[in-house]
Amino acid sequence: MSGKVYIVGAGPGDPRLITVRGLECIRAADVVVYDRLVDPALLDEAPHDAERVYVGKEPDHHALAQERIHELVAMHAGLGRTVVRLKGGDPFVFGRGGEEAAFLAERGIAYEIVPGVTSAIAVPACAGIPVTHRGIASSFAVVTGHGCCLDPGVDYAALLRSAGTVVILMGVRNLPKIVEQLRGAGIDPATPVALVANGSYPDQRTVVSTLDAVVAEARDVRSPAVIVVGRVVGLRERLRWFAEAEPAVERR
Ligand code: SAH
Repeated sequence: MSGKVYIVGAGPGDPRLITVRGLECIRAADVVVYDRLVDPALLDEAPHDAERVYVGKEPDHHALAQERIHELVAMHAGLGRTVVRLKGGDPFVFGRGGEEAAFLAERGIAYEIVPGVTSAIAVPACAGIPVTHRGIASSFAVVTGHGCCLDPGVDYAALLRSAGTVVILMGVRNLPKIVEQLRGAGIDPATPVALVANGSYPDQRTVVSTLDAVVAEARDVRSPAVIVVGRVVGLRERLRWFAEAEPAVERR
């Protein structure tokens, strides 16, 4: 008798931003296998005797660890358990949730995907930055900041020109390289850039800057942070609603 795996998006941070279905699954879990950016308060929602397994990886994880996670999840399901695979944001946005689902599908293990509120949209929203806005940006691209180290890398400038807004996840470490690439491709140095760290949490912090100044001005921003490039960043002036603990560094 095989159990079932629920691949659940935990939302962008604040545990109240999980979906109703996601919370329902956690409350019914025998095992919760969770990632690094999942809020511990969500684990408290699991039955007290449920097993909680941390499989968080540092940003530079390698394939072997991922393979072990697949096997662990499948093993618990094979024992007839209800497994919640809890991942930050939405499980199919840079969460390798697709790979985990494919592994289960190949083995005939029942699973359900419970979409989550992705940090790519929600974290800018918490900083008062809509990723699209009439007359300013009619589309947005979500990319990884690791992409600038890949060959062929992500063409951030082409994305910015075509999409209007570029949202970069996992990009803090590579910010100088990303900025260099954008400037090298002729993007206006006055283009607004925001970094939003710990989005949706009481210690959320936003730095608003421009392409030419952001590397210096965001020097002390630590991961996890979402980088937003494009004119929508300017809307924060009017749409700022979230009380940030520290005074934000505002340049313009
Ligand atoms: N599946 C996730 C993304 C995983 S990649 C989602 O849909 O949100 C992890 C990256 O997400 C981090 O490096 C950071 O760029 C971003 N991120 C996740 N939570 C965040 C938060 N609370 N504040 C700022 N950035 C966050």
